[in-house]
Amino acid sequence: MKPLGPIPTGYESRDGELAIGGKTARELVAEAGGTPLFVYSKAHLDARMAELRAAMPERLAIHFAVKANPFRPVIEHMAGLVDGFDIASGGELAMVTDAGIDPALVSFAGPGKRDAELEAAIAAGVTLNCESENEARRALAIGSRLGAAPRIAIRVNPDFELRGSGMKMGGGAKPFGIDAERVPALAREVIAAGADWRGLHIFTGSQALDAEAIAETQGNVLDLADRLAREIGHGPLPKLNMGGGLGIPYFAGDAPVDLDYVGEELSRRFATLPETLETTQLCIELGRYLVGEAGVYLCEVVDRKVSHGETYLVTDGGLHHQLAASGNFGTVVRRNYPVAIATRFGVEADEEANVVGCLCTPLDRLADKAMLPRADVGDLVAVFCAGAYGASASPANFLGQGSAREMLV
Ligand SMILES: *Cc1c(COP(=O)(O)O)cnc(C)c1O
Repeated sequence: MKPLGPIPTGYESRDGELAIGGKTARELVAEAGGTPLFVYSKAHLDARMAELRAAMPERLAIHFAVKANPFRPVIEHMAGLVDGFDIASGGELAMVTDAGIDPALVSFAGPGKRDAELEAAIAAGVTLNCESENEARRALAIGSRLGAAPRIAIRVNPDFELRGSGMKMGGGAKPFGIDAERVPALAREVIAAGADWRGLHIFTGSQALDAEAIAETQGNVLDLADRLAREIGHGPLPKLNMGGGLGIPYFAGDAPVDLDYVGEELSRRFATLPETLETTQLCIELGRYLVGEAGVYLCEVVDRKVSHGETYLVTDGGLHHQLAASGNFGTVVRRNYPVAIATRFGVEADEEANVVGCLCTPLDRLADKAMLPRADVGDLVAVFCAGAYGASASPANFLGQGSAREMLV
């Protein structure tokens, strides 16, 4: 037996079925027209934001990192909740502008921005978080050709990282950002060239659950921003994107971030900010923390078979929609996500089963040796924590399978 990850709060059982937004799993599937299906819950998104606002200092703006979930209705719903959007490609730029998001609220990070992407962003008035000297200079050249002052911030590659974070994106040699000691010279150069100077972006990591590590890193980010602002010598920073890093529990033994601790520590720091940051717009950018637990992936059991005494529930879903749950998206050791039988939700587990996808590869596993209520052909499987890095981060075309349905309820 292998443990399953913790099912996020806010999911109830109605008539023995998982219910989301007041509808049962079977009702949702019927409404969507079939499985596999991602269901995202507005109520969950709203509750998460309310919790976060209540815990964080009022002054802290909250941005949504679109790469976690670019489903159009989700972007539109988030527009009513967050203060800004962070994008990382020209494709995401088109998604947010098509969704009617004000480009003034959007910042664009990510290495390898092509000239056409820089041009579209500058023309729209999006802030560029420049990842290299080369990129900043190309942006300045495109700006002068267009007759527009590009909004430029500099992404810093800090000398520290977020302890315990699932994906490290700062500290040491990195393709992201500009090494801290080179930032002041470049900042002075872009300011002198007439750019609309937007300050700094310092992202240190992702998927951290340890509140003390998060708070310590946020303190280090503020210290580094202060030091760099003094070296730049152009007065207070207009803006500081402090990065994100808040994670969600995916696996057995994971506990949610102690949000109150993070909020209290940040408030303490905000009460004594140096002059360089006194008037600065301060924000964090979050992806999975905002949307991850709001999504459930539903697939149907199409076969039930036994091999060498082990039961296999073969579903019509799989890693082509839920790469992360299969253990093939940045994990070293495969562990089970929270998984349940949606059509027998809240029913006591009485057998050990392996839940697999329909792809002809041994990588396609959704739950290993999991204790579940007995499921048969036609039952629905729910994979939780599917609201971030699911549909858009999985190889939907692998084996000619195609995309899953998605709905926001
Ligand atoms: C991926 C990414 C995020 C979002 O990360 P989450 O772990 O989903 O919160 C935020 N900022 C940057 C720069 C990123 O690359």
